[in-house]
Amino acid sequence: MKRVPVREQDPLVRAHNFEEVSYGYNQQEALAEASRCLNCKKPMCMTACPVSVKIPLFISKIVAGDIAAAADVIAQDSSLPAICGRVCPQETQCEGSCILGKKGEPIAIGRLERFVADWSREHSLNETCNENGVPERSGAMQHECVRKEALETEQNDAAQNNCIAVDRKKVAVVGSGPSGLACASDLAKLGYDVTIYESLHKAGGVLVYGIPEFRLPKEKVVAAELENVKKLGVKIITNVVVGKTVTMNWLRENYDAIFLGQGAGLPKFSGIPGEDLNGVSSANEFLTRNNLMGAFKPGAKTPIIAGARAVVIGGGNVAMDAARTALRLGADVTIVYRRSMAELPARAEQVHHAQEEGVKFMMLMAPVEVLGNEKGWVRALRCQKMVLGEPDESGRRKPVPVEGEFVDIETDTVISALGTSPNRLISLATPELEVSKRGTIVANEELATSIPGVYAGGDAVTGAATVILAMGAGRKAAASIHQYLQPATDGGHHNIGFAETGAANRP
Ligand SMILES: Cc1cc2nc3c(=O)[nH]c(=O)nc-3n(C[C@H](O)[C@H](O)[C@H](O)COP(=O)(O)OP(=O)(O)OC[C@H]3O[C@@H](n4cnc5c(N)ncnc54)[C@H](O)[C@@H]3O)c2cc1C
Ligand code: SF4
Repeated sequence: MKRVPVREQDPLVRAHNFEEVSYGYNQQEALAEASRCLNCKKPMCMTACPVSVKIPLFISKIVAGDIAAAADVIAQDSSLPAICGRVCPQETQCEGSCILGKKGEPIAIGRLERFVADWSREHSLNETCNENGVPERSGAMQHECVRKEALETEQNDAAQNNCIAVDRKKVAVVGSGPSGLACASDLAKLGYDVTIYESLHKAGGVLVYGIPEFRLPKEKVVAAELENVKKLGVKIITNVVVGKTVTMNWLRENYDAIFLGQGAGLPKFSGIPGEDLNGVSSANEFLTRNNLMGAFKPGAKTPIIAGARAVVIGGGNVAMDAARTALRLGADVTIVYRRSMAELPARAEQVHHAQEEGVKFMMLMAPVEVLGNEKGWVRALRCQKMVLGEPDESGRRKPVPVEGEFVDIETDTVISALGTSPNRLISLATPELEVSKRGTIVANEELATSIPGVYAGGDAVTGAATVILAMGAGRKAAASIHQYLQPATDGGHHNIGFAETGAANRP
């Protein structure tokens, strides 16, 4: 039996709007797709999931028609299922390891996860913590709390302590992206008093400012999953730049532990001549103006210029998002990439959607100069032709310049999507925090940093990666923080090491 296809907006229509491309499965389609699952004894899909969602179990609940139970199963390991179901690179993770993929099509695990999460939201099923910090389900189905159930059956004192707010120790989380949200959710479920500090005016990290509405609806999906995190008791304070508005020392004085999940939002540029011309922007700025500031809406106060023709440099998800956004803003869009289609790092689905919508791809082109007009605006991007040589250290064939072969691509705007690195604001203001040469925070296996009680994870540690890896890191750090905050065997408590560094320092 073949994989059940998903219904999508017509490419010619969606190229002119910001509504979600995929409609997702309805219950009938989800049941048909779930019925293909073999419920393997050794499920490779689950091993390949960075947060170990119990995939066969939740799929079996769909087959049984108990979608609420499927939601409960997912909730044990993921606090953002509607988001992960939409944006995770399943083809290289769970679906990439599904046994059915060896001879045919793997189970559409991401679409099933999305179906369950959407169903759960539409039926107002969500998890909250009661006054003791014990998570429980609320909403139309009044379902049992999975963790409570586990506690009752396990008869395990240690596990019971996990869920009970002993003395409500306080944890500060820096950044409200997937790593911060996952860390905060797990700590709240363990009974801690958790506050997230977010520098932007809206919480969600890349989920709100980076990934566009047509892939991840902001109000319907992201805001709803953020609400679920808040219902666990997590406080989110926006417009606070840690390292400026409040210092790390202030956090260390006022909290028992800290998680740093500030991501990697600093854009890289190629350094070619002409990058300072009007009409050149980073994909991060371009997408933030559109997604966070709503620049695409008529009357929005933040402007955005895609121009009649736009060239996007890069081949990752960010490049695809920028190109598809510029297209929806009315530009004729070309992506230039220095390798071939086979090496594009973006998700295959993104590339396919971009092509369907009319984005053009010029492969084996390396930008060498942005050319301007007499008014200081972009008029063209000069690229050198490339051929593929021997594989480099990444295993991909290396692009080699073709001597003397250049092409000028006429354009009004150039959007650079060449990757990002972590912002050094916090590390520069906190010399005891060890960072690598790349600017990433150095953390050990337990995600502990060089400062006692300060943990870090997500893009801030790995450099730009994925939502699910960031979530996995957030969960791991939560477990380490919980361990760290257990009373010491000598009867005392660990402290965060603030005493070594001096007095509180709030500007
Ligand atoms: C355009 C785009 C598309 C992407 N598409 C996908 C995709 O399809 N699938 C996928 O899996 N991944 C995708 N990614 C990558 C994924 O979004 C990231 O790997 C993930 O969001 C990292 O999570 P994080 O929590 O580490 O950081 P972030 O999501 O970056 O969140 C960090 C948060 O910390 C805040 N912050 C930073 N500094 C401070 C400070 N000093 N004080 C307070 N707050 C601070 C930031 O404002 C931000 O809100 C994409 C990324 C981008 C940019
Ligand atoms: S590997 Fe595939 S078939 Fe087996 S349990 Fe996982 S999703 Fe089902």
